Amino acid sequence: MIPQEYIQEVVRRNDIEEVIGQYVQLRRRGRTLSGLCPFHNEKTPSFVVYPDTQSFYCFGCGAAGDVINFVRKYNNLGYVESVKQLAARAGMPLPEEDDRESRARQRLLEINRCAARYFYENLNAQTPEAALARKYWKEKRGLSDAAIRRFGLGYAPNEGFGLVNYLKRRGFQDDELEHSGLIRRSERGNLYTIFRHRVMVPIIDVRGAIIAFGGRVLDDSKPSTSTAPKRWSTTSPTHFLRSTSPKSPRASATSSARATWMSSQCTRPALTRRSVPAARR
Ligand code: ZN
Repeated sequence: MIPQEYIQEVVRRNDIEEVIGQYVQLRRRGRTLSGLCPFHNEKTPSFVVYPDTQSFYCFGCGAAGDVINFVRKYNNLGYVESVKQLAARAGMPLPEEDDRESRARQRLLEINRCAARYFYENLNAQTPEAALARKYWKEKRGLSDAAIRRFGLGYAPNEGFGLVNYLKRRGFQDDELEHSGLIRRSERGNLYTIFRHRVMVPIIDVRGAIIAFGGRVLDDSKPSTSTAPKRWSTTSPTHFLRSTSPKSPRASATSSARATWMSSQCTRPALTRRSVPAARR
């Protein structure tokens, strides 16, 4: 199923006068063009092209339609094949590729949403390091429990595989994790989390999707700065996700954006073969 917007774009980028002109010799008559109909035998032209409406009509045999109909009828192709041929003519990516890219992007946003939940759960774990992270948000940053929850602030524990296992249990594949910017593969081939022992801030776009993370090393041996922290690092940009440089958690907390994962349970995503990003196939 080709999206309607894609078809409209194909029609928009293939001027009917130019396309039909490749097959039929057309003569301009005012606002229209005419020629010998390619769909029936005739000696005087009754085939008319209307650039204003990007359509054609034959007064002899009744053939009619838009640029896609013309290519379809002329080359005896199916509808989808005709759309693809015109898309190629206009240098557009094929519709399946468009689809695959948006599915892969959707999967990355789901990974981020689940990762945010993981960081939030770890902030509330009963461990000394989690207590340290809570202390950071509350005492050094002056945030309430409600604000921490509202903005999805979290903590990445000091080990490399927790997040990997958490995401794998929810059905994400190795190659998807590697594309997320949160996880890397070691020389030995093991996946590991790049954020360790850090307080985490999800970076949320206007639609409430988490597009990246900011992480700050949590090290109480060093004095904290009261102004904007300098040691924030973000998830590395991927080819799907726009990277945004993190502001201080305070700035993030004043934004009106709110993480959508708060209202969800980060359920196990439906896993299909087609959901694997195209780049790795
Ligand atoms: Zn005709």
